Amino acid sequence: MKDLKQDLQHRKQQDLYRSRKILKSPQGREIILNDKLVLNFCSNDYLGLANHPDVIQSFTKAAQQFGVGSGAAHLVNGHTSSHHALEEELADFTGYPRALLFSTGYMANLGVAQSLCSKDDYIIEDKLNHASLLDAANISNAQLKRYLHKDYNSLQKKLSSCKSGGKLVSSDSVFSMDGDEADIKLMTRHCRENSARLMLDDAHGFGVLGENGRGSLSHQHIPTSDVDIYMATLGKAMGTAGAFIAGSDELIETLIQTARCYIYTTAMPAAVAEATRTSLQLLTRENWRQQSLNSNIEYFKNLITETELNLLESSTAIQPVIIGDSKTATDISQKMFDLGFHIAAIRPPTVPKNTSRLRITLRADHSEQDIKRLVDALTKSII
Ligand SMILES: *Cc1c(COP(=O)(O)O)cnc(C)c1O
Repeated sequence: MKDLKQDLQHRKQQDLYRSRKILKSPQGREIILNDKLVLNFCSNDYLGLANHPDVIQSFTKAAQQFGVGSGAAHLVNGHTSSHHALEEELADFTGYPRALLFSTGYMANLGVAQSLCSKDDYIIEDKLNHASLLDAANISNAQLKRYLHKDYNSLQKKLSSCKSGGKLVSSDSVFSMDGDEADIKLMTRHCRENSARLMLDDAHGFGVLGENGRGSLSHQHIPTSDVDIYMATLGKAMGTAGAFIAGSDELIETLIQTARCYIYTTAMPAAVAEATRTSLQLLTRENWRQQSLNSNIEYFKNLITETELNLLESSTAIQPVIIGDSKTATDISQKMFDLGFHIAAIRPPTVPKNTSRLRITLRADHSEQDIKRLVDALTKSII
């Protein structure tokens, strides 16, 4: 086992030490972080639903009806009518036959891999997939192969190199630290030609992309029948917590029977499910939030092209500015904080070495003036 003191010291020396700031407000355009009021360019609450009065009201009402804790796992007696209704509504919204709730997205990803794959199978992943998909492959005992980021020739090569055994290809549909998008159509073709199953993690697409926020499949015009396993989280654009897997009846029943991180964990509170049902209704009813987010993204990108800042190729709400080394990235993040902006510096191992970055995320409720101020401050802090 490692020497804890030495290990922590080492992290500090390498500027990889992580510490938490204390939040004393709801998520919003502005937040109170470490007792300072700052503009928030860093949360995944893209649409501002985490603090929406209707969402809060549904949560409160359900807590009064069901109490706070669900008290048991779904298979014991924690599966309330609220969970059940939400699953049906999510299936309907995404266009899949069934959906299954998980307490977190991390667990949903682990659950799928562990339930479906064993040691003679292959899991083939994009190099820049979210950590939970990589960990999922590891706990499944399947053989993990990783292809170059969004390089589908590289994917094809990895698929061809698999011997007998099942193949599961999995990818973020919007890459969480880069903001760029997988080419789902190409992926479905490679999967079909190689008899591989396809799983997409749409944590950053669900709620914001596609018709009324239906997600990346709707956005890229892909029929749901082409993607075997669809995963999305509820703690990001939906503003609540938890996640779901959508797919065929057989997939969902298999997960209920065998996914250990579904079976052996307490169901999310019913109040979270009710709050999510309200978020979903807001998505279906109103799409001005997505439109406002999109025009903010466009406005930001236009402003940046007039500067010398280095943006990645992204048209989503995730707009990272690449800095390079960890120390510079943390210094700039601190300088920005002092100026009244919160943008986290993302460092290895979350991102590859020498690609430390400021991961800016835009929100629907940012004003053009907020964004203009951000870009002005960034230009001054970086150059
Ligand atoms: C956030 C995230 C997850 C994990 O979801 P949680 O509900 O926060 O556990 C999984 N995949 C991606 C791509 C994510 O961004």
